[in-house]
Amino acid sequence: MAETIHKRELGRGERVLPGVFRLRLPLPWPGVPHCNAWAICAGDGVVLFDTGIHETGSLAHLERALEMCGLRLQDIRLLVCTHAHSDHYGQAAPILERAGCELWMSPRLDHMRGYAGDPDASLARRLEIARQSGVPEEPLRRYASQRREHDSGIAAIVEPDRALAPGVTVATDLGSWTVHETPGHAPSHVCLFQPERRLLISGDHLLGRISLYFDYGYTPDPVGEFVSSLDVVERLGARLCLPGHGRTFTDVHAHIEGNRALVRARAQRVLEAIAGEPRTAFEVVPHIYDDIPLTAATSPWLLMETLSFLQHLGLTGRAQRLPGEPERWRTI
Ligand SMILES: [Zn+2]
Repeated sequence: MAETIHKRELGRGERVLPGVFRLRLPLPWPGVPHCNAWAICAGDGVVLFDTGIHETGSLAHLERALEMCGLRLQDIRLLVCTHAHSDHYGQAAPILERAGCELWMSPRLDHMRGYAGDPDASLARRLEIARQSGVPEEPLRRYASQRREHDSGIAAIVEPDRALAPGVTVATDLGSWTVHETPGHAPSHVCLFQPERRLLISGDHLLGRISLYFDYGYTPDPVGEFVSSLDVVERLGARLCLPGHGRTFTDVHAHIEGNRALVRARAQRVLEAIAGEPRTAFEVVPHIYDDIPLTAATSPWLLMETLSFLQHLGLTGRAQRLPGEPERWRTI
């Protein structure tokens, strides 16, 4: 029995720079064992960037991580979220209640409102997209029953007190942080930059391990938006990145280039997959990912990524969607 019990980590906190604390919070996801929240000193308390996921016992992990840094929930003077995914925003509601502070984030929350606010409608929409993309009925039924048991990881939907947009700054003891809209990973994604110290709070836009994720179906071209957001961040000239998962890293430019190269490589694989016979997105998926196993857990995410690439190739005049059910794609 013992070996079948999934050993969960505890929340941990550590100082990474004077006045900057990394709070490493556990996640229930295979392959992504934890996420980061960042606490940065501001006056007699801290600004907290991101929250960790909401689930049973999750607030205790955050409290434990804070305590390792000599902090308490009541020391949070402001909560800032980089984007509205559950691991970055899920605990916003209980944190606001306990700390009595404001929430600042992007107001572009539709992608989360559907997911957390009306999970049945959101699931129905995803199933329809999957069906149109050629996914057979049996895996669809399995996916639907898994999702119905799945918790959103978001305690409650809370609206921002202040909309994070260019021109807004977040004051801390390290100086002011500027706001940079970086959609692609999620429509609501922003990065925060401290220009004198050249520090970047990158959320999931840039991670130490180069990997892609797109919220498909909410904006016209998540892949194109992501690539434009890489340009936005490159112009900042950051020296040190504080990412949403994993350790801090310094070679920010190399990580931006790595993401661009991965986008180009994946787009090329998709083009090759539809160069002969027209194919559905479902048929394209196995041609793209040598490095990621196709499982019940990864397939829905890889299908959404493949659809994002097909849509991007369509919008940039390199692929064409053929009418019919299911939809098929071919090169132009
Ligand atoms: Zn995310």
